Amino acid sequence: MAAASAPVRHRPTITRTAGQVGTVYRFTCPCGATGEEQAARRMALVDLNQHVMSLPRVPADQQCRIPRTHDCSLWEPCGLCAGQLDLFDLEVS
Ligand SMILES: [Zn+2]
Ligand SMILES: [Zn+2]
Repeated sequence: MAAASAPVRHRPTITRTAGQVGTVYRFTCPCGATGEEQAARRMALVDLNQHVMSLPRVPADQQCRIPRTHDCSLWEPCGLCAGQLDLFDLEVS
């Protein structure tokens, strides 16, 4: 039910499923990207990393400087950090 114009957040995860031939791992992302079923978790992790690497780079002034505190991923612009830059610019000028 989310608005169609809402930006998709990339939250890549690896799911583990018990299949007929044993446990399989698969990378999935809320944006719709998925990987192949893999026999090993590290192989699904390769798919995950390829997806992350394919995402457009965030401009340097929008990158989060404290991702753990802001719960912000490397591939997402951080509104909090960008907002602080704006404030800083206002004070300087
Ligand atoms: Zn994604
Ligand atoms: Zn931040």
